Amino acid sequence: MSAPETEPEPSPHAAEAAPPRRPVAVSLMSGGLDSQLAARLLAEQGVDVRALTFMTSFGCGPGEGGACGHDPAKLPMHPSIKIKLAHLGQEYIDMVMHPKHGYGKNANPCIDCRAMMLRWADEYREAIGADFLITGEVLGQRPMSQRRGVMPRIEEEAGVEGRVLRPLSAKLLPPTDAEKQGLVDRDKLCAISGRSRKKQIKLAKELGLKKWPSPAGGCLLTDPSFGRRFHDLRKHQERATVTDIDFLKIGRHFRLTPQLKVVLGRDLRECEHLEALREEQDWLFHPAEHSGPTAVSRGSMDDAQIEQIAELVAVYSKAAAGEAVPVSYGPEAGPEKTVVVKKPASRGLFAALAVV
Ligand code: SF4
Repeated sequence: MSAPETEPEPSPHAAEAAPPRRPVAVSLMSGGLDSQLAARLLAEQGVDVRALTFMTSFGCGPGEGGACGHDPAKLPMHPSIKIKLAHLGQEYIDMVMHPKHGYGKNANPCIDCRAMMLRWADEYREAIGADFLITGEVLGQRPMSQRRGVMPRIEEEAGVEGRVLRPLSAKLLPPTDAEKQGLVDRDKLCAISGRSRKKQIKLAKELGLKKWPSPAGGCLLTDPSFGRRFHDLRKHQERATVTDIDFLKIGRHFRLTPQLKVVLGRDLRECEHLEALREEQDWLFHPAEHSGPTAVSRGSMDDAQIEQIAELVAVYSKAAAGEAVPVSYGPEAGPEKTVVVKKPASRGLFAALAVV
């Protein structure tokens, strides 16, 4: 007699359906208040946020003073927000040298920059299987890239139409795909516009943020003095390298000829930095006996120009006006030579050559 057939015991897990997948958004995170709030608003709605912080050679990165980038690693984050750093290298510099949509007030190509960042963020979104993008942009806050008519153009340029949710201004903008698909509750988003931060600060308090960074005006490309140096470089070079850009960040700059540029350190730290940045083709100049600046020249020069650079070094040295100042110079690989020049009476003689 065979044993009676019995129904197998149901597994205790069989009735448990897989939990619904949480929506995932990729956020552009500068670390400033607006991008934090945008990510927080979504995290509060149950969206997992993968925040991307872009670093560029123009001060948009953690640890860079005076830049648009605040260090997001130092910010108190919601558990649903994870941060990733991404470096935009030569491709970003190439874009800044030749932006399709031109520059803002200084050397900031904000439209092309936003389009590139959104395109990169969207590639990352696709790679990790996320659903949509979010930014901390506020309608009307920035004159170049945050205008109503420009935002759709940037999305089109980046190929991300309908996928960019701007939680702080969402109610003032057409619904995005994420809202239409019900991944996000539009009613819980904001209708903030303009340059005032009052509403953001109120929202920050409501969301329990205890402190937030002070507003930053943008990356180094929005700085007028850096902008002038950058445009001088652009006028004389078709292409720029990371080192070319690093040189623009320090020292006193002089354009001697279209092919010849000189940078003088303003203090010991800058002199050491210049020396470290120097590449094979650059020549170094420094006073042989007096205390004074190190200079780096980039570009072809003749004997008269070598003397002119030595005078520049002498005029910023501690020697007395009219005193003979030996200045050593040479390429990295070759032996140093020395030229003796008289310290000019005034720095004003070089004013016309300065890129300030
Ligand atoms: S200020 Fe403009 S150019 Fe600079 S990072 Fe922001 S969007 Fe880009």
